[in-house]
Amino acid sequence: MNKFSWYDAASIEEAQKEVNATVSQTIQPDSPENAAVFKASGIDLLDLMKEGLSGPAKVVGIRNIPGLDEISFDPEKGLRVGAMVTLSQISGDDRIKANYLALHQAASRAATPQIRNMATLGGNLAQRTHCWYFRSKELVCFRKGSSTCFAHVGENENHAIMSYGYCVSIHSSSLATALMAFDSIVEIKDKDGKIRLVPIKNFFVLPTVDRTRENILEPGELMTAVILPAPKRNTVSYYIKMGSRKSQDWPMAEVAVVAELSGNVCKSVNVALGAAAPVPLISKLANDSITGKTITEATAAEAGRAAMQIALPLSENGYKIPVFQTIIKRALLAVV
Ligand SMILES: Cc1cc2nc3c(=O)[nH]c(=O)nc-3n(C[C@H](O)[C@H](O)[C@H](O)COP(=O)(O)OP(=O)(O)OC[C@H]3O[C@@H](n4cnc5c(N)ncnc54)[C@H](O)[C@@H]3O)c2cc1C
Repeated sequence: MNKFSWYDAASIEEAQKEVNATVSQTIQPDSPENAAVFKASGIDLLDLMKEGLSGPAKVVGIRNIPGLDEISFDPEKGLRVGAMVTLSQISGDDRIKANYLALHQAASRAATPQIRNMATLGGNLAQRTHCWYFRSKELVCFRKGSSTCFAHVGENENHAIMSYGYCVSIHSSSLATALMAFDSIVEIKDKDGKIRLVPIKNFFVLPTVDRTRENILEPGELMTAVILPAPKRNTVSYYIKMGSRKSQDWPMAEVAVVAELSGNVCKSVNVALGAAAPVPLISKLANDSITGKTITEATAAEAGRAAMQIALPLSENGYKIPVFQTIIKRALLAVV
């Protein structure tokens, strides 16, 4: 791990004045000299630094900035979750459990209790991919500036099955999967103090667009909160994570469903898939398949099959197709 200086910011403005780079930039061969980056709880950042992938000259702590760790809920206006709210806070909040069940479930199932006590929402959304080739200092993969995606021909059982280009990494944020299903908005403060409200579907960046990053954040831009719309009447949600073990690991496949119902008929739905692609995705094929239909074993299974029509599995991850089909079906059946 490199030597670095530490700055404990007391306000957003102070933190933004110090920060001049994103962590993603520090992983590139042309990493800026004297890079100063944000640190929330540091789980992902310190992993990257200890692994020798990122070596910022300065780390700017944002934990002590007041006001970023608050949750507010208004049944008319919706939910606002501060970027420094921890996953434990999200999973322990009764208002979230009652009105945004899939978000509660995603936060409750991520990582381990110890990690959830530290990990923040902002850091969770901005964590880098856990592709094992990307995470190895020795291997300069496509995302780190070479022309080789080792996963394409190597061990790719955890990797993408759809919407990939040459890089087949998957996005690692479980919270993002649930937040996509709720059509959330990411609130970002830029360096001039202006607030940008970005629909979460526009927050993530595919490697076919820019392989050096996974989100739109520019140096010094700070996520301040994520906003979820007010819960609509008769709208129900559900989230399912499948992993190789029950706890302590990222998902192999995950799904979040937010459905507006009339009895058992699906009036509208958002089926979001995580660990399927380099970014979290809404499955339009699944949405179109089930919308307007009564949710039954047969129609839910059909939506799962529809979602997987565009899957292009790699040499070792064909197993993900039946897993996704099953969890999409189960999540749809769970909302009725
Ligand atoms: C064993 C293990 C299992 C895990 N399992 C899961 C899982 O199942 N699902 C899942 O989703 N995650 C999982 N994680 C990942 C974990 O949840 C994230 O590493 C954690 O949420 C990161 O949050 P943090 O506050 O520590 O972020 P940090 O490490 O402090 O920051 C991460 C990145 O976000 C940037 N950043 C942080 N806050 C802001 C902000 N407000 N504005 C702009 N940029 C910001 C930082 O600069 C950095 O680039 C797991 C981690 C481990 C170690």
